[in-house]
Amino acid sequence: MSKAITRFAPSPTGFLHVGHLRNAMLSYAIAKKYGGDFILRIEDTDQRRYVERSVEYIIDTLQRFGLDFNRGPSAGQIERLGTFSWYTNDWLDHLDEVEKVNDKDFADIYIQSQRLAIFQKYAWELVRKGFAYFCFCTEERLNKLKEEQKSIKTASTGYDGFCKRYSLEEALKKIKRGERPTIRLNVDSYKKYKSTKYIKVIDKVMGKLEFNLDFVTDQILIKSNGFPTYHLAVVVDDYLMGVTHMMRGVEWISSTPKQIMIYDMLGWRMPEIYQVPVLLDPAGGKLSKRKGSVFVGQFLEEGYLEEALLNFLMLLGWSPTDNREMFTMEEFIKALDITKLNKSNPIFNRQKLNWFNGEYIRKLTVQQFADKVKHWFKEFSQDEEMKNYVALDTAFDRKAALIQERISTIKDAESMLQFFYKRLPVPDYSAVKGVKEYGIEILRSAREEYIKMLNSYNTDSDLWNKERWIEELKSLAVKHSLKPADMFMIVRLHICGSEFSPPLFEAMQILGKNECLERLSYTQ
Ligand code: GLU
Repeated sequence: MSKAITRFAPSPTGFLHVGHLRNAMLSYAIAKKYGGDFILRIEDTDQRRYVERSVEYIIDTLQRFGLDFNRGPSAGQIERLGTFSWYTNDWLDHLDEVEKVNDKDFADIYIQSQRLAIFQKYAWELVRKGFAYFCFCTEERLNKLKEEQKSIKTASTGYDGFCKRYSLEEALKKIKRGERPTIRLNVDSYKKYKSTKYIKVIDKVMGKLEFNLDFVTDQILIKSNGFPTYHLAVVVDDYLMGVTHMMRGVEWISSTPKQIMIYDMLGWRMPEIYQVPVLLDPAGGKLSKRKGSVFVGQFLEEGYLEEALLNFLMLLGWSPTDNREMFTMEEFIKALDITKLNKSNPIFNRQKLNWFNGEYIRKLTVQQFADKVKHWFKEFSQDEEMKNYVALDTAFDRKAALIQERISTIKDAESMLQFFYKRLPVPDYSAVKGVKEYGIEILRSAREEYIKMLNSYNTDSDLWNKERWIEELKSLAVKHSLKPADMFMIVRLHICGSEFSPPLFEAMQILGKNECLERLSYTQ
């Protein structure tokens, strides 16, 4: 296969959906597999949805996941965001100039709002060829049309083609008088040109697609403010940037026939289409924010590792030929067979994600794990007190090492480690299984006896001898007719403030004798 050029084309809306991350990952993998470029293109033609700093956020996120792009917006372009340095509302007063725009002058620009000239040039070319037309309809007329269509329940919704009545000459006259039209795709002209009303295409994921153009509306290509819509911009940019494999969510499928028409009208060859299925929530329906996290930032905040999330996403929509589940990016690129992407909707199974995350946590060295946890606190913890303690703790690795086997998200460290830094209220003894049987007084006196024992040791070798510690607690249990597990539980409740804790002996050792005594002495 020749070189693959792929792109990730998010809109800078401030968030990145996990489905976007999957698309980016697949596009990246295809480009790497076939020795080509992975492009980042910012689709910011809908200025109402633009959120400050979101381009930086997108770039940071891609980097964090190791999905580095070969071509994408430069620092200068990012700085210039919001300034257009080209005609917008008044572009139609400059058609002579628009016609002469040289594509090459814009070749290195990967932010669509800085490529307006290019889209205008091709829209104007389509108008001149008769494949698109100026539309002067007001908002009011369009709304009224929609209302009427609704009331008579007609099958053909969308624009009624009213403005096709104007010849190009008439339209240009109206423009000269100051009217500001949109440009619409002329679907009828395409049908005539091709002598058919059907469009057929092979989607490399979804299979054969067929569209009846009677149900495809005369889509707006350029808005009256001179900005393109997605449908035009995506075609022009994919083509000019040399994209060979266009991967995106299948939710864009209604755009597919419009895009094919534009490619044909401009005489351009289409990239291969890969429209990947929408992720489903196990509870049914699309993965939606009402049912849990959906944005990449949320998963990071919840303590998922980048490698784990990526690995999980790899297996949504593609199945390896063997039963392997763990893949590094490199292994994935090697194993991926792009002719075998799944067309059924993958279920976003959060338990499975937790499993992956746990596996990846276990694979880290203690040092790497401690660094990740520390970093997580710095970036995400809402507990300011803990955040400070952790940042300043020079013995953090030792504490972190105790929980590495026991957590499934990095965020779990927050609750698991807090007792090291704060004295937590001691939960009541109901967590001690046999409490009803023994009565609380026996538990108290067993604890008091343990305090005495601990108090009597002074050297480190006496204090922190694990076998002896176990023996002693066991014999105290026997003496008070308690189950050993219950004896350990009482100590745990006091030391850790919870029935779930890292290994108790090691935790006590880190806290030190005096602190342990204090905690054991809380009355309960
Ligand atoms: N800008 C579109 C989005 O944010 C991209 C769709 C595509 O990949 O073509 O979803």
